[in-house]
Amino acid sequence: MIGTVLIANRGEVALRVQRACRALGMKAVQAYSQADAEADYVRLADAAICIGPASSSKSYLNIPAVIFAARATGCDAVHPGYGFLSENAEFAEAVEAAGLTFIGPSAQAIRIMGDKISARTAMAAAGVPCIPGSPGALPDDFEQCRGIAATIGYPVIVKAAGGGGGRGMRVAAHEGELAEAVATTREEARAAFSNPAVYIERYLGEPRHVEIQILADAHGNVVWLGERDCSMQRRHQKIIEEAPAPGIPRALVANAADRCVEACRRIGYSGAGTFEFLYEKNELFFIEMNTRLQVEHPVTEAITDIDIVQAQLRIAGGERLWLDQADIEFRGHSLECRINAEDPVTFAPSPGVISNWQPPSGVGIRVDTHIMPGYAIPTHYDSMIAKIVTHGRTRDEAIRRMREALANTRIDGIKTNIPLHREIMVDEAFLAGGASIHYLEAKLERAENG
Ligand code: ADP
Repeated sequence: MIGTVLIANRGEVALRVQRACRALGMKAVQAYSQADAEADYVRLADAAICIGPASSSKSYLNIPAVIFAARATGCDAVHPGYGFLSENAEFAEAVEAAGLTFIGPSAQAIRIMGDKISARTAMAAAGVPCIPGSPGALPDDFEQCRGIAATIGYPVIVKAAGGGGGRGMRVAAHEGELAEAVATTREEARAAFSNPAVYIERYLGEPRHVEIQILADAHGNVVWLGERDCSMQRRHQKIIEEAPAPGIPRALVANAADRCVEACRRIGYSGAGTFEFLYEKNELFFIEMNTRLQVEHPVTEAITDIDIVQAQLRIAGGERLWLDQADIEFRGHSLECRINAEDPVTFAPSPGVISNWQPPSGVGIRVDTHIMPGYAIPTHYDSMIAKIVTHGRTRDEAIRRMREALANTRIDGIKTNIPLHREIMVDEAFLAGGASIHYLEAKLERAENG
């Protein structure tokens, strides 16, 4: 059993974890940077401790400071949230070495899945379909690389094993582009990820992003909680997510999910985790695993009625999974719109003071946020300030509720992407369901050009 949790994160997820702790009778200690000292979630926690200045590298990414904070405040566990240190194996190790519980999988599982080549190998061994690609890291010899790419078939994408956040990837449309794609990706991999290993995959033209949520305990029990479609993206950043993924055959999802469960058993995975896939022409292909809580977890909570953060806390405390796969039911449809403090046309960040904030409410509407009137958005962190989540019996009902929610949201003092969300909620291709990951970007380009 966990008694006191250090929350090593900020913003809406800090509040989200606090709520889960409270529901389970645990105490929550909030770690915060100087830039966040005035935030509501700092005041609302059972205790709070400053871990450094505004710059993330000196606070939310500062491993010794976070460990010190946990020990100094009598915590017995650390919740990393998402982003920051949540997928850092060294951090998970340091937490455990300090005699504390890391709320997430083992450092070893994070390491296997953090390297895209070893993740592919582990997944293929469990029978999870992967995108056709090189068997492992590319050899130094270019002639051999050319042979490998020719076998896979063009276009191909060269990826860094240690890449992340949409960086460390280059597409080669034909053989003439391969040498440069390999050289640039290698260079970026060496400089940015201190791991020069790169590999090749076939490049899919119009895929959708579909991901499967799993929960695993430390005793080998694993269940899957359905899938999410996160294809509405700009610059590889998800903007809208939904569950279930419209139009994808249930048997295809169930088969892939069963294989993910098998992969979790094989690598001894525990906690919540997400397997990301690209979907094209009736096939799902694994691309990577996120060994942490996802921003978009509420849409899965809405359709399964399972609190994923509470599950993380209970599993980390050693509890056996209290659910069988047969207990998990999927009800209705859910959508999430990420509200960012940014200009809706230029997408430039729009920090500032929120003078007025009136969140939407009503049946089937949930808002996860840390903002309030008078809140000054710090410039140092990402621009997401709230998530609006709707749930309905059908996709149509969830969309209607989202339109209503967006119409009833008032936020003054800063610019947000709410106008963009309103537009998407009446966009024909979105309403039809099944748009590809390139849809939104192409739509925005068309708007800009004319
Ligand atoms: P990251 O760790 O940087 O998020 P991913 O491997 O998840 O990298 O890929 C990020 C995005 O790049 C995917 O969501 C997709 O849009 C695109 N992508 C990655 N691999 C492929 C591929 N084989 N074909 C087409 N697009 C791809």
